[in-house]
Formats: sequence, C-alpha cells, structure tokens
Amino acid sequence: MIPPKDLPSFRRSVLRWYSRYGRELPWRRTRDPYAILVSEFMLQQTQVATVIPYYNNWLRRFPDFTALAAASENDVLHAWQGLGYYARARHLHATAKIVRDRHGGRLPMDPTAIRDLPGIGRYTANAIATFAFDRSVPIVEANIARLLARIYNYKQPIDNSRGHEAIWQLASALVPKRRAPIFNSALMELGALVCRPQPKCRICPVQNFCCATRPEMLPRKKSRLSPRKLIESHLWIRRGERILLEQSTKRWPGLWILPSAGSTTGRPIHMSIFPFTHHQVTLQVFRNPSRKIDNDRQRWFSTRALDSIPIPSPHRRAIVDLLSAKEAAALRRRPS
Ligand code: SF4
Repeated sequence: MIPPKDLPSFRRSVLRWYSRYGRELPWRRTRDPYAILVSEFMLQQTQVATVIPYYNNWLRRFPDFTALAAASENDVLHAWQGLGYYARARHLHATAKIVRDRHGGRLPMDPTAIRDLPGIGRYTANAIATFAFDRSVPIVEANIARLLARIYNYKQPIDNSRGHEAIWQLASALVPKRRAPIFNSALMELGALVCRPQPKCRICPVQNFCCATRPEMLPRKKSRLSPRKLIESHLWIRRGERILLEQSTKRWPGLWILPSAGSTTGRPIHMSIFPFTHHQVTLQVFRNPSRKIDNDRQRWFSTRALDSIPIPSPHRRAIVDLLSAKEAAALRRRPS
C-alpha cells in the first residue's frame, strides 16, 4: 500500500502529469450529466478515437434526455451504427425514457439511484457521479485496473469477484475528497497513455510509488478459452435497384441484415471474418436468384435507402463489397 503520509505526494504527481499531458477530449469539457452518460456508454468496449465523431454526432442529433427519449428505435440504432454492442444503444434509449418519465428529465445524483438505470454498473454510476456531480467516489475501468494492479504489484487475477473487489478497494483508498473528478480522469489517462499493456516506466510520474517487478506480466487474468469458430450463411437477393434484407431478432435485434440462408450450395460470393464476444464468426454470402419474401421480417430496400437504416458493420461491409463500385462509392460518400 502507499502509506497514508505519501498519498498527497502521489496525488500531486498524478495531477501534475495530467495537467501537462492529459488529452483534450470533448466529454472532459462538460459537466452535463446527459453528455457524460452518452460518452460513458460509448466508451465501454470502444476506443477513444472511434468514439469522438459518434459522440459529437449523437449530441447534435439527440441533445438531451427528452430528445433521445422521443426518438424511434430505428433512429437510435442508426446513430449507433458502426459502434457495435448495440445493447448499449438500447440501454441508453431506455434510460432516457426512464429519466424523462420518472425523474422529470434530470439524472439522479446518487450513484445507487444511477445504478438502477438500464445497462449501468458500478463503474458507469460512479463515473457519472464523479464527472457530472463532483462526488468523491472511485472509478475502476480497464486502464485504472491495470495501473493499480501494477502499482501495488497485485498478482492475483483481477477478473474474478475477489480480484475485482480488491482493485476497487485500492482505488477507494486513493481518491481524494476534493478534486476527485480530475484525479479520476488523471488516473485513467495515466493508464491509457503511460501504464499501457507495454508500460512506459521511464516516463512514468509515479514510478517512485510503483511496486511492480515485472509490470508487463500484470494484471493477471483467468486463462481465456480460444474463441469458438462459427460459420454463418446469408443470401444476396437483388431485384434491379433493390436488395432484400431481414430484420434481425437474435444477435442484432432491430438491425437489418442480409437474409439468413438455410441450406446453401455453390461458392460464396463474399466471405469475411469478424469477432463477436467469444466467437470468431465467418460470414459467407451466397447469391440467390429467388425473388420471394420468406417471412414478414424481410423487406426490399433501394440501394439509395441503405444509409438511412441501421445495418451492423459486418453486413454493411458485405453489402458494400457486393454492390457495384459506383453504388458502393455513393453509399460511402452519403452522410448518414
Ligand atoms: Fe506502470 Fe511502470 Fe508506472 Fe509502474 S512505473 S505505474 S508499471 S508505467
């Protein structure tokens, strides 16, 4: 542990480094609980650089809880398109409706009440409480967990309940009463920029406090199973300017995908691989001259309409690959 007498010096080192090297990120310039909530949902599982344009676009399109609550699911999924993990968009939408209907359009300030909202766990609740409401509460996400496991040379796995709790306890001991939001941002930034998976110890501002002997071996995690391989077959059914799509009910509820194929013959006209949770999915697309609609979840869309409907990235890439070069270029150029 960092002895209590050294805590002020540790915090000062972190804050000094952050004031010099911390990045200017759009969600760090606001105290608006809605904007912070949006950023926190988007940043789960997604890199900062990817999130920035989505975040700015989202706030233009849905500037507050009321606007988001009034939006259709189609519009919400469309604005999220490309970020993946669409459950986050649905949870955000559901949260906006609850905030509008039960909290008069204002997010509750208490972390426990925030945590009752859909899709919000301990990290997100505390992140909103600290960044929007200036609460002195700890936060632990992947960057902070890695940083703390190393500073304290914590050699147990951090992805089971015991390890998880231990890291939260360490974070609780560090967070100051005053300036907690900036300190929490600084810890996160230090993990993201310096204490990276390959740590840059030579430029680390808290090197003097760090107990790690082999930091690149930390944090420890339970051994991972290799991803399960899946092959999924879909159909390319085209009538003139129109393409048949099907609304997904399983992996991407509400989004439009190429129709599922039952049995297939011949060679696929498109093949690509994408990760999905613990799976590695091979997407195969077969040409099918059938012009029939098989079920009421299928609809014809003109190629010009494809940018106005939510399509998950693997299927969008397949469609772009299979359109003519001219159509694909127009699709890429059109603003969504
Ligand atoms: Fe991470 Fe190295 Fe800094 Fe320790 S000294 S906190 S391992 S970057």
